[in-house]
Amino acid sequence: MLVPLSQPFVGEEEIQAVIEVMRSSQLALGPQTEAFEQAFAEAHGAKYAIAVNSGTSGLHVVVRALGIGEGDEVISSPFSFIASSNCVLFEKATPVFVDVLDDTFNIDPDKIEAAITPRTKAIIPVHVFGQSADMDRIMEIARKHNLKVIEDACESPLAKHNGKMAGTFGDCAVYGFYPNKQMTTGEGGMIITNDEELYKMCRSLRNQGRGDSMQWLSHTRLGYNYRISEMTAAMGLVQTQKLPHIISKRQELAAKYDELFRDIPGIKLPVTKPENEHTWFVYALRIAAEKRDALLKKLNEKGVQSKAYFFPCIHMQEFYVESFGYKYGDFPIAEQISHESFVLPFFTQMTDEQMLFVKEKLEEGLRELEDERIRELEN
Ligand SMILES: *Cc1c(COP(=O)(O)O)cnc(C)c1O
Repeated sequence: MLVPLSQPFVGEEEIQAVIEVMRSSQLALGPQTEAFEQAFAEAHGAKYAIAVNSGTSGLHVVVRALGIGEGDEVISSPFSFIASSNCVLFEKATPVFVDVLDDTFNIDPDKIEAAITPRTKAIIPVHVFGQSADMDRIMEIARKHNLKVIEDACESPLAKHNGKMAGTFGDCAVYGFYPNKQMTTGEGGMIITNDEELYKMCRSLRNQGRGDSMQWLSHTRLGYNYRISEMTAAMGLVQTQKLPHIISKRQELAAKYDELFRDIPGIKLPVTKPENEHTWFVYALRIAAEKRDALLKKLNEKGVQSKAYFFPCIHMQEFYVESFGYKYGDFPIAEQISHESFVLPFFTQMTDEQMLFVKEKLEEGLRELEDERIRELEN
C-alpha cells in the first residue's frame, strides 16, 4: 500500500460544472467568477471577494493595493510558506520576522511590538496549518500603532478565532487553492475584504489596472493579469459549496489521528487552542530533531508519504540568507519547530484502513530507530 501525502477532493459535480462552462462561449470574466466570489465571501462572512489565479497573486495584489512599497517594513512569520513574505519583496518593501509560539506555530503577539519601527506599515499574520493566529491581540497592536493587517489565510478557510471567522479580523485576507489545500481549483486564490475601496483597487490590479466602468483598452494604473478562467471559477464554486463538509471531515480525521497516536512515546501531537476552530490544512507531528529525517526516510520507504514542514524556515531560505544575512539562532522557536515537525498523509477522503496503515508504519519506523540506536550504543 502507498498512502499519498495529500489528494484533491474532486467529484463528478466539479467535472460537470467545468464541462458546462466549456460548452458555453464564455470562458473568462463571466458569471461563474462572480458566483464563485459571492459564494466564497458569504461562506466567510465577508462583504467582498476577488478571485485571483493563485494565493501568491492575491498576496501581491493586496500588498500593492494597500500602498506598501520601498522603505516600508512589514511584520510577518518566519514559519510559513515563502509567499507570505515574498509578496512584501515584490513591492520592494522589507519583511521583518517575529518568532512564533511553540504550541500553535503562529506569530507570537508578545514579540510583535518590539519589532515595530516608524517604517512599519503592516502585519501579515499567517494562520499556519489551518489554525488562526491570535487575531484579537494582533488587531489590538495594529490599532494602537495604526498598522494594516493582511491575513494570510491560504491554509485556513473557515477557521475561527474566539467564534469569529479568521480572515475577517484584518483589512483583508488571502486564500489559496493549490491541489494540496483544503479546497482546490488546480491553481487559484481569493481575496476577501469588507473595505469597498480596497475591493475596487484589488479588482483593478487583477485586471490590468482597468477601472470598473472602463473600456477594455483603457488602463488607469499599472495592473496585472491575475484573473482566473470561468472553468476554474466553476470548479471553485462547487468546492466552496462542499467546503463545510470538507472541513468537518478533516476535523474528524484529525481527531482520529490524535486518538491513534496519543500513546506513542517520543512524538508530540498537534495543539489546538480552545479559542480556535482548526480547519486542518495538514496534520503535523513533532519528534526530536535528531530523529526526524531518519524517520521520514523510513516512512517514505514503507509507503507512507511524509515530509518535513516547513523546512527550512523562510529566513533560512538561500536568498533570504544572501539578501538579509539571517543565521540560525535569529528565530529559535521557529527554527526548532522547523527541525522537529513533519506532516503525515492527510486528505479529506482518507480511509480508516489508510490511517491504521500510517499508524502501523509510524510505530514500526520508531521501533527500528530505537533498535538502531541501541545497537550503536552496544558497539
Ligand atoms: C499555499 C500558500 C500560499 C500561496 O498559495 P499559492 O496558491 O500556491 O500561490 C501562501 N501562503 C501560505 C501560508 C500558503 O500555504
